Amino acid sequence: MTASGMKPRVLTILGATGTIGVNTLDVVARHPDRFEVFALTGATQVERMLEQCRTHRPRFAVMSEPATAAALRARIAEEKLPVTVLEGAAALIEVATAPEVDTLMAAIVGAAGLPATLAAAQAGKRILLANKETLVVSGQLFMDAIAASGAELLPIDSEHNAIFQALPRDFSGDFQQAGVKALWLTASGGPFRTLSAEAIAAATPAQAVAHPNWVMGRKISVDSASLMNKGLEVIEARWLFNARPEQIKVVVHPQSIVHSMVEYDDGSVIAQMGTPDMRTPIAYALGFPERIDAGVSALELIGRQLTFETPDTARFPCLKLAFDALAAGGSAAAVLNAANEVAVARFLDGAVPFSAIAASIAHTLDTLAGGAADTLEALLEADRQARGVAEMYLDRVQV
Ligand code: NAD
Ligand code: MG
Repeated sequence: MTASGMKPRVLTILGATGTIGVNTLDVVARHPDRFEVFALTGATQVERMLEQCRTHRPRFAVMSEPATAAALRARIAEEKLPVTVLEGAAALIEVATAPEVDTLMAAIVGAAGLPATLAAAQAGKRILLANKETLVVSGQLFMDAIAASGAELLPIDSEHNAIFQALPRDFSGDFQQAGVKALWLTASGGPFRTLSAEAIAAATPAQAVAHPNWVMGRKISVDSASLMNKGLEVIEARWLFNARPEQIKVVVHPQSIVHSMVEYDDGSVIAQMGTPDMRTPIAYALGFPERIDAGVSALELIGRQLTFETPDTARFPCLKLAFDALAAGGSAAAVLNAANEVAVARFLDGAVPFSAIAASIAHTLDTLAGGAADTLEALLEADRQARGVAEMYLDRVQV
């Protein structure tokens, strides 16, 4: 109990050292009465994790790499901080499911976040889901786990958070009953929105990660440049809101002010707007159902023009590939995601051109027709196979 008589929420933040993690801790620090940090996790950034341990005093800090865990442990001992350092994937599951924890921020990037996030879903936690790859890879399995355990799922992705805010509070996934016609996901269009296909094919990693409106990790920044991010978000929306693919529309909105919209049967379109700052959806989910201060600057609409365009799937084939994977069903979305992760990492290393991302995903999807998706093992196997096929394809591609 705190001075205000409120029981604080006890949090584990997976991916605390990343962009979403840092923004989450910024909001948490504004509300010391409301939140207590139980565990923070990272992969390689020892200095940042040490700084977070000094400020937030978690009981546990997890580093996924043994070497960085050892380095952190030494620094924590030097400073005599009351933090226990754990390491490896099993420790991620431990801190995500510990009985003391009621809320999990899932903000690891990629399929690496899946096992611990799924475990928290099975354990009935309140899950603040930034790690969209979890839903892309294991949508049905994850939503079944949420339903079975009574876990609470709150979307952090700004589009899905916007849709969540624009849907009726008691929305059960029944579009007809709620009078919902369609979900409109907005996309900024990314840094290559106005470039020719030739210029996009030759784009460098530095150009790809220079997002016009949002500050994000490197992988999601490349996904935004290829529009795969929107493709992953279409799949994410399918599972979060029980939408059929044709009920999910994508519209390019370069100003990133309208974060997404819900279209109703009576012609109403309800949008959520705001300054593009991830602390808004993070604060919404942290405080839900209350609204809490997020430290976000007020939206300045005077003098702004809001524009909307149709996405161009000829220049941005990744968006269509995601709809294809959704239509194929089974493990196809897991295959799409794994091939994308491999290709984006190769592109960021400067080993393959930007155009190889879509090409290798298309090749991998063609090679591995969707298999079963009903167990974690089957999905991880599909992920493993897809990585192998994509690696082999990319080995043959020249820069
Ligand atoms: P980031 O790269 O800034 O941070 C990633 C975090 O994951 C870091 O803490 C890193 O240590 C950890 N991590 C990376 N690989 C790991 C591994 N193998 N095992 C354990 N931990 C690992 O990424 P981000 O921009 O914060 O994005 C995190 C997630 O949130 C992604 O799924 C992304 O799609 C989603 N998301 C981000 C934004 C955004 O604005 N940044 C918006 C919507 C959704
Ligand atoms: Mg988003």
